[in-house]
Amino acid sequence: MKGPNEKRKIVCVLYDDPVEGYPPKYARDSIPTLAAYPDGQLMPSPSGIDFSPGDLLGCVSGELGLRSFLEERGHKFVVMSDKDGADSAFEKELVDADVVISQPFWPAYLTSERIAKAPELKMAITAGIGSDHVDLQAAIDKNITVCEVTFCNSISVSEHTVMMILALVRDYIPQYDWVIKGGWNIADAVARSYDVEGMSIGILGAGRIGFAVLKRMKPFDVELHYTDRHRLPAEVEKEFELTFHEDVESLVQACDIVSIHCPLHPETEHLFDQKLISRMKRGSYIVNTARGKICDRDAVAKALETGHLAGYAGDVWFPQPPPRDHPWRRMPHHAMTPHTSGTSLTAQARYAAGVREILECWFDGKPIRDEYLIVQGGKLAGAGAHSYSEGDATGGSDEAVQFKTKDQ
Ligand code: NAD
Repeated sequence: MKGPNEKRKIVCVLYDDPVEGYPPKYARDSIPTLAAYPDGQLMPSPSGIDFSPGDLLGCVSGELGLRSFLEERGHKFVVMSDKDGADSAFEKELVDADVVISQPFWPAYLTSERIAKAPELKMAITAGIGSDHVDLQAAIDKNITVCEVTFCNSISVSEHTVMMILALVRDYIPQYDWVIKGGWNIADAVARSYDVEGMSIGILGAGRIGFAVLKRMKPFDVELHYTDRHRLPAEVEKEFELTFHEDVESLVQACDIVSIHCPLHPETEHLFDQKLISRMKRGSYIVNTARGKICDRDAVAKALETGHLAGYAGDVWFPQPPPRDHPWRRMPHHAMTPHTSGTSLTAQARYAAGVREILECWFDGKPIRDEYLIVQGGKLAGAGAHSYSEGDATGGSDEAVQFKTKDQ
């Protein structure tokens, strides 16, 4: 067991730099400064930061702005993007790592096999929200702390979700395409275009993101529905005119648009399978900015092909990166993005500061905020105890290696 002043090895997996090189030229000179999160939770509060908010921090050269802080304290900081496969830089560096930092956008999957290869590992930090890329059961069993920067990008994701609901229902992307193609094909462009007004919108998981989506959609004069294992207070339901459903089956049958905002854990893995999707009204839309694996890949593609679903959008895939022949890249009527909703430049400033706050607490022997905890002391804790169930959802993540090895 290392003492408080001993050097630690921090392994950090980040996505690649921009193809045009780093640093990029920024579109804006600053980002807004926020006082607190919408529920009053305090913003990340490290002792200081060594980056300019608004800079690209989530890629390899951005280093989450952590290098000088860690090296001044004498720790070893190793940053890489090569994360998949037995010969990856990540798997080599993992063997003596004390801490692993990873972002859900480019997840360093910490399977039980990898955890077994990392005897020194004490903590896995998610620079973002959603720690399903870690085998949480193995972390529980090995007493590894898993934590994330709760709320750092919840509003970012809710904004992306609203954009996707509008893009799907109004059929924005094909209309944009007609402009690029030099056409003026109004009839083609509107043949699948509807108004959102009056539709029923259902939220699975009315936590930080799901509730923010409900709030943002209310002014569109829609009917708002939700289900969650924790029911919202009666006064909140009344204020936002929310209809609560006991289960997801009831929710999907009542709605035109279903937006998924629960974490991925054994209860939610492949929840949207052929059976559940078949219960949705013909012409429904699904938006999934939670985790790709909550939906069955082939069931979604098939429902779009048959026309049972009118559209599917989201920014989460499984595995990540998805193979270049993943069906969601080419299925009809989708509005997919790569996993970007939670890594806007604005969000990066918050989660980089939050990771530093977590590291400072850990080095200095101070408690990590309860709301940042997913696993601690051999059990689900904090936000993890509220929103996850025990078990592992990383199965199949080794297929991420296909992105770099498969001939395209
Ligand atoms: P949160 O913990 O505030 O909310 C999650 C909600 O889901 C909770 O209210 C919880 O009770 C509910 N829930 C959990 N399991 C459920 C189940 N089986 N049935 C019904 N409800 C269930 O978290 P959040 O900040 O809103 O984030 C939610 C998820 O969104 C994350 O776990 C992550 O997977 C995803 N996320 C994605 C991005 C992105 O960039 N696309 C960014 C942040 C978070």
